[in-house]
Amino acid sequence: MNMKIGFIGLGIMGKPMAKNLLKAGHEMVCYDIVAENLANVVAAGAKAAASCKAVAEQCPIVITMLPNSPHVKESVLGPGGVLEGAKAGTILIDMSSIAPLASQEIAKACSAKGVKVIDAPVSGGEPKAIDGTLSIMVGGDEQVFNSVKDILLRMGASAVHCGPIGAGNTTKLANQVVVACNIAACAEAFMLAKKAGVEPARVLDAIKGGLAGSTVMNAKVPMMLQGNFKPGFKIDLHIKDLANALDTGHGRRPAAFDCRGHGNDADAQSRRLRPERPQRLGQVLRESLRNEHRFVTRFASPRPIG
Ligand code: NAD
Repeated sequence: MNMKIGFIGLGIMGKPMAKNLLKAGHEMVCYDIVAENLANVVAAGAKAAASCKAVAEQCPIVITMLPNSPHVKESVLGPGGVLEGAKAGTILIDMSSIAPLASQEIAKACSAKGVKVIDAPVSGGEPKAIDGTLSIMVGGDEQVFNSVKDILLRMGASAVHCGPIGAGNTTKLANQVVVACNIAACAEAFMLAKKAGVEPARVLDAIKGGLAGSTVMNAKVPMMLQGNFKPGFKIDLHIKDLANALDTGHGRRPAAFDCRGHGNDADAQSRRLRPERPQRLGQVLRESLRNEHRFVTRFASPRPIG
């Protein structure tokens, strides 16, 4: 069934996702603070709205695809935000990657007005956003999820219900830790090969089918070798995800940042056992990503790497 759907946040990911919903026959009402991004989807057939509130006034379903928690809070709960325009029964699907606790806060504030919220972050990057084959991980009421699953599957190849509100973003954080480690390890490994005099393209051919092979290696290493650093996923956004993972680890005391499972800073016993470990591991990941940026930049340099 074709619906009237609002879409807020038309950046690298939001643009192709909104266009896939247009292609599926849905009527789209869109908003972005950057006029050029809004004009791009309007040229493809969407209607422009003047604010987040105006989007919500017109649409029973509103999708947000924004950088981080503060942007989603502002555009949903702030002045002129989604909540001001929404009615009881409006469904908000937040597809941004944000802190799970922020998803819970937003859903709680919205529930006071009868607005239903699910968090539905994605993985797959710009190529899969264009193809409509994203992996979508969802938190929130399962009935609400089922009622919008067909819409999600116009943007993704899979949409999996992971648990209550926030569970989608917790799943996304787990995804981002794995991806960050993989990217940083690939940058280190191929730089090692190059410095030691072995042709990196040969290394890729030799190892991609073995245990070290990964989706990340297949997607990112050829780009590193070609010196193609056009941002698909900006490194600042990945650092944001790792910061959210770190905060979530500290708040919830999972083993996410410590495979031995020793708690967080606030836990005196854990502090005695292994005081700095969760924080240090998060910092190492963030530093690795910063290094990866330096490494791939140096990798692309025509000058000898010394
Ligand atoms: P982006 O920076 O390209 O796009 C964000 C858009 O939001 C921009 O167009 C910006 O103008 C708009 N925006 C910001 N504040 C706004 C507001 N208050 N009201 C309306 N519009 C506003 O980012 P992106 O790469 O599209 O990523 C969006 C989200 O998806 C992030 O949470 C990111 O972590 C996640 N994500 C990105 C990728 C990727 O490969 N790019 C992959 C998976 C998930």
